[in-house]
Amino acid sequence: MKKMALLLSLLLVSNIAHSETHGRRLGAHVHGTIKIEMAVEGKSVDLSIDGPAESFVGYEYTPKSAKEKKAWAQAVATWNKQLLSKLFIFDKSLGCKINSASFRQEMDEEENKDAKKEAGIHSDINAEAKVTCAIDLAGQSLVVALKKNFPKIKKLAVELVGTETKTIDINSDEQTIKL
Ligand SMILES: [Zn+2]
Repeated sequence: MKKMALLLSLLLVSNIAHSETHGRRLGAHVHGTIKIEMAVEGKSVDLSIDGPAESFVGYEYTPKSAKEKKAWAQAVATWNKQLLSKLFIFDKSLGCKINSASFRQEMDEEENKDAKKEAGIHSDINAEAKVTCAIDLAGQSLVVALKKNFPKIKKLAVELVGTETKTIDINSDEQTIKL
């Protein structure tokens, strides 16, 4: 009986591990784990995210229900239109504006062809944005509030790309980082 329980718990553990991590053609995809690439050059910042769709909308298949479509539209609007008021909050005195923004769901057809149920389908969010400010951004700071707006993100890191590339872990809903 004890043996049976151990076997069962081992099976359970391997199942959980399997459902959270998937081998992807473009690298590992772990639900809840997101990395933002932030490249600062002079007055502009290039932002880029490539991570599991689940962290942004709660599913990874093509949205079907009204609720799923609404979640999708909301995530797109937050990124494309409210990027600087909700997600990356720069001080008003810096005069930052969105130059371009895109938020797409990327399905890997090859990866999903054997999926029999929606729960077995995986996709990534490919989001990019270019922000330009009125003054040089070196040494300035901003508030990263992604976790506040996308609570399914559990582990968030910002990779600051520049002359010296460094990674900053974001542990709270709203966290100030220095450029
Ligand atoms: Zn997935």
